[in-house]
Amino acid sequence: MNPFSRQDGELLADGVRLSDIANSIGTPVYVYSRSYFEARYRALQAALAPLDARICYAVKANSNLSVLRCFQALGAGFDIVSGGELQRVMAAGGNPETVVFSGVGKSEAEIDFALKLNIGCFNVESRQELDRLSQRASMLGRVAPISVRVNPNVDAGTHPYISTGLKTNKFGVPVSEAETMYQRASADPALEVVGIDCHIGSQIASAEPLLEALDSLLELVNRLNAQGIGLRHVDLGGGLGVRYKDEPDFDLETYSAALKKKLTGSALQLVLEPGRYLVANGGVLLTRVEYLKPSADDGRSFAIVDAAMNDLIRPALYQAWHDIEPVNQAAKHARTANWDIVGPVCESGDFLAHDREMALAPGDLLAVLSAGAYGMVQSSNYNSRPRPAEVMVENGRFRLIRRRENSRELLSLERDLDG
Ligand SMILES: *Cc1c(COP(=O)(O)O)cnc(C)c1O
Repeated sequence: MNPFSRQDGELLADGVRLSDIANSIGTPVYVYSRSYFEARYRALQAALAPLDARICYAVKANSNLSVLRCFQALGAGFDIVSGGELQRVMAAGGNPETVVFSGVGKSEAEIDFALKLNIGCFNVESRQELDRLSQRASMLGRVAPISVRVNPNVDAGTHPYISTGLKTNKFGVPVSEAETMYQRASADPALEVVGIDCHIGSQIASAEPLLEALDSLLELVNRLNAQGIGLRHVDLGGGLGVRYKDEPDFDLETYSAALKKKLTGSALQLVLEPGRYLVANGGVLLTRVEYLKPSADDGRSFAIVDAAMNDLIRPALYQAWHDIEPVNQAAKHARTANWDIVGPVCESGDFLAHDREMALAPGDLLAVLSAGAYGMVQSSNYNSRPRPAEVMVENGRFRLIRRRENSRELLSLERDLDG
């Protein structure tokens, strides 16, 4: 279901020419395929059937309102990690009852906002957070639905910055501590125990670590049941890996078969919080070559493009690989070399890719693939660069879903004290 394919040598998104989008909107610009997002969601849902699973899209992967609207229309719930994300879900017409709220640092204001909206569940990450939730709920005359985020101490086998389920990570609490938190919560009239959850990392290649985590959660669920503490759902978080280079796509077959085996007939509803899996390969970042600096001696050859680490930070931050393809076939005057594809930002860490053999000429349009997740959401204004535009392709047309920032807007929050 790759939405980006070539026709007569030109790269298209669901039949729409990427060059038309670049010419009309300018570059850099993110382009997403709505039909890909839908197909991916439906495939995951179908794999889990007949389990009555709830898929809570992890908003932080790509939080554009039109993307949220797309998942809302498919019946998804949402996994959020801030009050700002909750605001977005509401703006996109999401139902707060389908929202689970993760994150280690929920502020009082964020908790109050979520309590007043009656969100589905707070995924609690510490004892002190449980205390704060109880206080705020009592104060507001509400009951806070809670799940304890367990840190099962399993190695997700992923990049250290996106591994979250080891005891050295700041996330969740150990199983033993979770048990005492459940005992405390079940005795507190301001709290209602509704579930248990974990999220052990991102870009996980195989089902095994996730299933290992499930086993340790289910053991705790059994111990809690024996104490008269019943739960309604088990939330295994997200983390399902995708193909960026040559990795196999996540083994959904094995994962879903094992989930069905372990949870069919159980009173626990399954909740998943996928982000990357639903959106990563449904987006590209379009960028244009500004200058070529071919190697003088045996140094490196640089292709300087108009997108930079402030637009897409994954290569700089995680040494992540993104395939990069010319949108059109190489021009006759193009130069073949092993190019480092770099941006205009004044950092040597500002690169999109190293050592890519291709034929390039100034003005060429490039597509940075697999940019639908953790792309635009991690963009910044570093070097006072306006953030890119975003476009959604649907029904054979494209729509601007976020216009490009302008430099006036970048100054608008500041005051010049001497001016
Ligand atoms: C980031 C995050 C997710 C989504 O992770 P993906 O790897 O994008 O699926 C889900 N749950 C929590 C708690 C997260 O922090």
